[in-house]
Amino acid sequence: MSATVAPSPAPAASMPGSDKMIEVVGVSRRFAKRLDFAGKILAKLGAPIREEVVHAVDKVDLTIRRGEVVGLVGESGCGKSTLGRMVAGILPPSDGSILWKGKDRTGLHGKEARAATLQAQMIFQDPMSSLNPRMKVADIIGEAPLFHGLTTRAGLPAYLDEQMRRAGLDPTFKSRYPHQFSGGQRQRIGIARALAVQPEFLVCDESVAALDVSIQAQILNLFMKLRRELNLTYLFISHDLGVVEHLSDRVVIMYLGRVVEEAPTETVFARANHPYTQSLLAAVPRIEARKKAFAVVRGEIPSPLNPPSGCHFHPRCPHAFDRCRVEIPALKEVAPGHRSRCHLNDLPNHGGQPV
Ligand code: SF4
Repeated sequence: MSATVAPSPAPAASMPGSDKMIEVVGVSRRFAKRLDFAGKILAKLGAPIREEVVHAVDKVDLTIRRGEVVGLVGESGCGKSTLGRMVAGILPPSDGSILWKGKDRTGLHGKEARAATLQAQMIFQDPMSSLNPRMKVADIIGEAPLFHGLTTRAGLPAYLDEQMRRAGLDPTFKSRYPHQFSGGQRQRIGIARALAVQPEFLVCDESVAALDVSIQAQILNLFMKLRRELNLTYLFISHDLGVVEHLSDRVVIMYLGRVVEEAPTETVFARANHPYTQSLLAAVPRIEARKKAFAVVRGEIPSPLNPPSGCHFHPRCPHAFDRCRVEIPALKEVAPGHRSRCHLNDLPNHGGQPV
């Protein structure tokens, strides 16, 4: 990121405290890869063919406090978007539970369930495919608040103007269609649509990845402005550590469905513990290191259909040893507020420091 992104001080009234907005407890999500027609026939004939199961998210624990911005980072296919969808309430977990303000989401009914659904909104990567091209902006933004009684039909024009202005859009454009806007403006429409139902928590899934760098900075600054004005809580999902550095209070790193490291943002950038996090950091472009070659994470992320045994990262880890191939490392605290999932932390003299 070379464009300027304003620093993101948390508003005093919303500094992370003990007020838990979301608690993810032992959550897993599996997807079955169904047999095709030929496979089903072969299975009926007794061939040893079975449905394959992808463990997209594997026993994840995560707490997000009111007013906090948590960055969720990992390569494509690590399960971060699946976790984001479960946290936003649009995908049920296979195992475990997700608590919304202390209550299990699956146990909410009626008014409480509706409030939880409205208060957690998701903003997607590709604004064009997430907006109905046949609807005018006024209908895209106004449909949900009108349906849920957050405004009246008579009050809708003024309500729309407020939402559009808040997202940095000119309200006189509300009769236009999505294709008449630029990529950055379409993302603002997606943000206005989410804000129109008065959420408290936003899950932003690669929400700036499809935008030019200068537009990325504008949208990131908008997220931070909205955080200050509306006391919003964010789960900000990105493959790019450089993006989450600018706005996150805390960073969570995922690899092949598991959380491998979690720490305050400054700690991750100053004292990353897990070899995978260290590899991701080495790949972030830095002006002060402009004459150095980029250090890339070696190898490809393995298929989640057949993940490596023990530590999932061992085929790519420069420090792997025998134990890593057979035993799953536990996510352990290596310093206050800093957890890492690596067997190196059990070695004498390692002391939880980067290798
Ligand atoms: Fe590398 Fe082993 Fe640590 Fe996994 S547990 S990150 S393979 S050293």
